[in-house]
Amino acid sequence: MKLLSEIKSLSSAITISENKPLSECTSFRLGGLCPLFIDNPSAEVFPEIIRLLNKSRMPFLVIGQGSNLVVSDSGLDCAVIRFLSETPLIQSDKNRVTVSGNTLLESLARFTSENAVGDLSTCSGIPGTVGGGIAGNAGAFGRQIGDYLVSAEILCPDGHVQTVNHEELDFSYRHSRLKETGEIVLSAVFELPAANREILQTERKRILEFRRKHHPDWHAIPCAGSIFRNIEPTSAAERRKAAGYFLEEAGARKLSVGGARIYEKHANVIIADKGCTAQDVWELSKQMIHAVKVKFDIELTREVQFLGKFEKNESGEL
Ligand SMILES: Cc1cc2nc3c(=O)[nH]c(=O)nc-3n(C[C@H](O)[C@H](O)[C@H](O)COP(=O)(O)OP(=O)(O)OC[C@H]3O[C@@H](n4cnc5c(N)ncnc54)[C@H](O)[C@@H]3O)c2cc1C
Repeated sequence: MKLLSEIKSLSSAITISENKPLSECTSFRLGGLCPLFIDNPSAEVFPEIIRLLNKSRMPFLVIGQGSNLVVSDSGLDCAVIRFLSETPLIQSDKNRVTVSGNTLLESLARFTSENAVGDLSTCSGIPGTVGGGIAGNAGAFGRQIGDYLVSAEILCPDGHVQTVNHEELDFSYRHSRLKETGEIVLSAVFELPAANREILQTERKRILEFRRKHHPDWHAIPCAGSIFRNIEPTSAAERRKAAGYFLEEAGARKLSVGGARIYEKHANVIIADKGCTAQDVWELSKQMIHAVKVKFDIELTREVQFLGKFEKNESGEL
């Protein structure tokens, strides 16, 4: 196929697979095939890849580490481009850091702490890439990555590249404009609050320890972190409330569907046992929504993205 050879010729670092199981590319290890999978660790050739896909009228989706996704068992009907590199591309100048969108968030958090560049400890231990993190404004403990972003170099779905600043990205809780536009983060600049190395390393250690205690190790236990968004406050005086609390109180911990069940230490996390399907995860998430609705009359909203076709009898979903 001409398209494949044209893309491959752009860089020797690109790997292309046809009919790739997306279960191999997501932390949940679920999902059917996609017709074309492009493993592209290079920001330089990305615009050209997009131009070639657009010319062939091939729809596409960009993923990072696939740690916030549930891909349908029937797969996806589009090309999937993975923008991920195990080799961090980070430069710093005082408290200002420039980083490639395909760098792992954890690598960035470690770098900033070890080199006393500034405080990004909130990202310690969060799976995924900087690009995926900016798209979903990833964070923890009341702080998120968007709080520190100065600007980002963005690749638009039509193939042109532009620099956008913090205000233009429309950050809010687990949201940025990228979620709607499909624009791709090639690189980003952050300005971090100053802190000394000792404080940074102590805080990072504390956060990693907390995560070890409360979250599954996704390398061993397939999952995608919190399934639902926390509950928005109803007045300015209130704080956002943990969805896990309402799930716990509604008795969701004992729920399971097929190979999908609730993680014993965190009621807002679904884990996949052997034989689990994406549909099992979808069905279990529906039961969790129902349990909280019945007990509290609160409507949970999914934070994890469910991609592709799911059998569902809910209206207005996805
Ligand atoms: C054990 C565990 C714990 C977690 N804890 C947290 C937590 O504390 N806080 C938190 O916020 N999240 C958490 N998550 C969820 C996840 O790690 C984050 O959402 C992460 O930012 C996703 O990054 P990713 O590269 O894996 O994105 P993916 O899952 O690959 O993609 C997610 C979205 O981002 C888009 N995207 C990916 N790359 C780019 C790019 N370069 N440019 C633009 N858009 C892009 C995709 O199109 C998709 O819409 C956790 C997940 C797990 C498995």
